[in-house]
Amino acid sequence: MLVRLILLVLLVVVVMMVMRRLKVAARTSHTRKTVEAQTVRCAHCQVYLPSNEAVARHGQHYCSAAHADAARSRA
Ligand SMILES: [Zn+2]
Repeated sequence: MLVRLILLVLLVVVVMMVMRRLKVAARTSHTRKTVEAQTVRCAHCQVYLPSNEAVARHGQHYCSAAHADAARSRA
């Protein structure tokens, strides 16, 4: 009887560890996809950067305010 109880507790612990690992793996892959999807290119120097660091002007993305100004003065 005691052996069955120990085996049951071990089974529950193993299942919980596997489920936690699967949850972490799913979260990691989702984060990677989000980062890739938010990469934009500077319209002036063509460098790639995350969209949360980019300067958005006139429907374009720029790596810095200086490049946004340079593109505006060129046009
Ligand atoms: Zn740039």
